[in-house]
Amino acid sequence: MPELSKDDIVDHLNSGYKEISSLMGKINSHKDSRVTYSRNIFLPITNICRNECGYCIYRRSPESHDATILMETDEVMAMVLEADKYACHEALFTFGEGADEFFEVRQALDKQGYSSMVDYLYHLCSETLDKTKLLPHSNPGILKKKDLKLLREVNASMGLMLENSSARLMETAVHSKSPGKDPKLRLKTIEDAGKLKIPFTTGLLIGVGETVEERADSLLEIRKLHDKYGHIQEIIIQNFKPKPGIPLERLQEPSLLEMVKVVTVTKLLFPDVSVQVPPNLNIDGAQMFLLAGADDWGGVSPLTRDYVNPEAPWPELGRLKSLTEELGLQFVERLPVYPEYISEEFLSERILEKISSIGF
Ligand code: SF4
Repeated sequence: MPELSKDDIVDHLNSGYKEISSLMGKINSHKDSRVTYSRNIFLPITNICRNECGYCIYRRSPESHDATILMETDEVMAMVLEADKYACHEALFTFGEGADEFFEVRQALDKQGYSSMVDYLYHLCSETLDKTKLLPHSNPGILKKKDLKLLREVNASMGLMLENSSARLMETAVHSKSPGKDPKLRLKTIEDAGKLKIPFTTGLLIGVGETVEERADSLLEIRKLHDKYGHIQEIIIQNFKPKPGIPLERLQEPSLLEMVKVVTVTKLLFPDVSVQVPPNLNIDGAQMFLLAGADDWGGVSPLTRDYVNPEAPWPELGRLKSLTEELGLQFVERLPVYPEYISEEFLSERILEKISSIGF
């Protein structure tokens, strides 16, 4: 593990332009010239969620006129088959958390013959593997270890944002109505994924009232789990964006420099892990993040919008390619699982066979 203490991290996060440009220089002198992306399709299976995060515009109540109670198998597979035609390799299954705690969702699952969202997700991933060249990456929220174990068979990687390890945020408008955002529960899911050797994506949400010390603690918690299990393949540094109508509407978003500092420190602490800043939320500052240590654009869809941030369309692949190459870097496609995790240790036989049949 890189020798960075909490005090070092906090100092870096509080630093001025001289220190931060020197740290960026240090990172760039070691940087691989590759910047990766994954061609994906975003599949919003349900937007029903037991949480009510203060910044969310994805969630709906079952009685909302525009709620997606549950996408049916035919609907999902039509999208996945279409993505296959666009040579996508990642099927990103996204959910509200604990949706099957709601009667309406259980009823919709029952109609299709499934007893839980995990069973249904297993079926969708399995169909995707059988009928297309896409590999599933699922983000169903916190999960029990037995459910992670089941889903590992049919997922190339999985993800759960830690967001922040501070329990204090559970008392604020950010997470006071979101029992699933208890950092203890999220760290437990990330740790269980490590025990099961699931290649894992996590990350921080920046600018929702957390302190610099809490950002440092959150990064160190992830580092601790990665040191123990070696399964963190990617860290997303996502900036809060105010949106009309959300409880945090009046909160200011973090400045570009604040984000640059977090990205730089993340790369310093995780030289062995990819760092991503979602480009659709940051296209104007995107090249700055590459200079600060980001080396992945994340999943970019040639055919679906970002349902979590619908106001921010995904930039076209051609635009990301030219932003990358203007810096003298290479724009390289990857699978939802990073090359160093393509092994019997980290993937099920079924996923390994699929990857070898794709010939990627
Ligand atoms: S858990 Fe996700 S979907 Fe649910 S309210 Fe929070 S951000 Fe929205």
